[in-house]
Amino acid sequence: MRTSIATVSLSGSLTEKLTAASRAGFDGVEIFENDLLASPLAPEEIRARCADLGLTIDLYQPMRDIEAVPEGEFVRNLRRARHKFELMRRLGTDTVLVCSSVSPLALDDDALAAAQLARLADLAQEFGVRVAYEALAWGRHVSTYEHAWSIVEAAGHPALGTCLDSFHILSRGSDPKGIEDIPGEKIFFLQLADAPLLAMDVLQWSRHYRCFPGQGGFDIAGLVQHVVRAGYDGPLSLEVFNDVFRQAEAGPTAVDARRSLLVLQESIGLAPLPEPVVPTGIAFAEIVTPDAEPVSAVLGALGLTRTARHRSKPVDLWERGEARVLVNTGPSARRDGTGLAAVGLESPDPAGAARRAEALLAPVLPRRRAPEDALLDAVAAPDGTELFFCATGRPELPDWRTDFEPLETAEPGVGRIDHLALTQPWHHFDEAALFHSSVLGLNGQESVDVADPYGLFRSRAVTNSTGSVRIALAVGPAPTEDETRAQHIALATDDVVAAARRFREAGGSLLPMPANYYDDLAARYEFTEGELATYRELGILYDRDAQGEFRHCYTRTVGRVFFELVQRDGGYQGYGAQNAPVRLAAQHAQRPLR
Ligand code: MG
Ligand code: MG
Repeated sequence: MRTSIATVSLSGSLTEKLTAASRAGFDGVEIFENDLLASPLAPEEIRARCADLGLTIDLYQPMRDIEAVPEGEFVRNLRRARHKFELMRRLGTDTVLVCSSVSPLALDDDALAAAQLARLADLAQEFGVRVAYEALAWGRHVSTYEHAWSIVEAAGHPALGTCLDSFHILSRGSDPKGIEDIPGEKIFFLQLADAPLLAMDVLQWSRHYRCFPGQGGFDIAGLVQHVVRAGYDGPLSLEVFNDVFRQAEAGPTAVDARRSLLVLQESIGLAPLPEPVVPTGIAFAEIVTPDAEPVSAVLGALGLTRTARHRSKPVDLWERGEARVLVNTGPSARRDGTGLAAVGLESPDPAGAARRAEALLAPVLPRRRAPEDALLDAVAAPDGTELFFCATGRPELPDWRTDFEPLETAEPGVGRIDHLALTQPWHHFDEAALFHSSVLGLNGQESVDVADPYGLFRSRAVTNSTGSVRIALAVGPAPTEDETRAQHIALATDDVVAAARRFREAGGSLLPMPANYYDDLAARYEFTEGELATYRELGILYDRDAQGEFRHCYTRTVGRVFFELVQRDGGYQGYGAQNAPVRLAAQHAQRPLR
């Protein structure tokens, strides 16, 4: 189906919004009146700009407080409408959105509403315009789609139809099945917005918290299926009022928006995409740093060995068992300081994974970074992290390790990366979650809020079904400073106490935890003799869920990266979220190493 987006969903000037929508591949836009009023462009110029950008203007909106009012008021409303219809003719758009009235003058009189909307439609017809009547969830007398449709039906006017808006329908808990009773040709427009499930005033909820389909808690796909079954063949149009999107750059927001519609259409069989290729493991994590020494010291103390060096670039490979970390001192490190720049994901079909990513608008990175490098498929995540699709140790496919010259053999030892935690720029959180679930085929877990001394973190993990790929996405207090955008690499161990001791004995520095934390742990759980004293000594944190136990500790931060040692027992599935506030406070108390 054609895709469209309301200009109100994007930030910037009207020109910036139109450009972003076009670049993201939308077919059309809804022009929001305020964007037009604030634009220096004449309607004819806006029309020409849209045509140049390959965008149709699918809707002009909104027209408010029109119907079911005393005659004198209605005559004034018609005068107002005439001006809008003239404007629409200049703009070259043929559908106007009329929201159900919230005016204190509006009467609870459906027959009057129908008669006046029919007169409005008469006038609209003179200008070649159609009127799409939408029930606002907080409309004074008309607040459900069934009610709006019954008035449209009673009016029986060819230039009058209804506009369905998923937010207004689902926020009220209406059953969308009844949409199938509306003739498709009378559904003049369909607006889509998701939203997190919140218990709050519906108007505030709508104005501030709408999000793109798949980012909230509504069954948007189910609703669209009913609309398609009704015979609707107009555009799928996003109308999202969101405080974050209003501030974020329009370009990435438009891409996020269009990706949400691609995923939505795929989910209901309207437009297939290349199959998701779910990663089966983490091949490596790549740290860039201007100075390899502090990172190398931590890796060495954690028991990893520098096993190889890249043939053509200043990149070292560190390994312990299946845990692999690349340390890159190339040019980008001098610009950005120490941080986690790339992740290698083990993929059953690297090329297929890249095809899906590209179909879902992920920027594809050049496959070959040096003439002799192995061909690797890679894309950029919304936060700029490079994701490589790898086939480690599979002879039929290029192995990234062939780019490396062996230095020494790692000591035998088990090890793997338990999870990666990637703190997102503040305006990319929902986008990141949708990206990782749709592009990589990972499952999103519940979002949790974590208190930081200087703000609130939101965190959401995405995993594959076996837990061999776990990525914790977090967003910090907005706007996030670089230093709080720390990333971490968690290494799995089957004995965190021994691992922490080895790390310390090898010169590593563990993040100390406050005594109050351990006093509280003693109150909450029973430990064996001496157990808690050991945790207190080493800074080990403890958590438990219905399945099992979790013990973990942290290294000091280097630049924007730190490491975690984790011991999962008995099927524990979390990440120690309840300990995160203590960890964050402890990190604030310590300055990063550099
Ligand atoms: Mg709407
Ligand atoms: Mg962690």
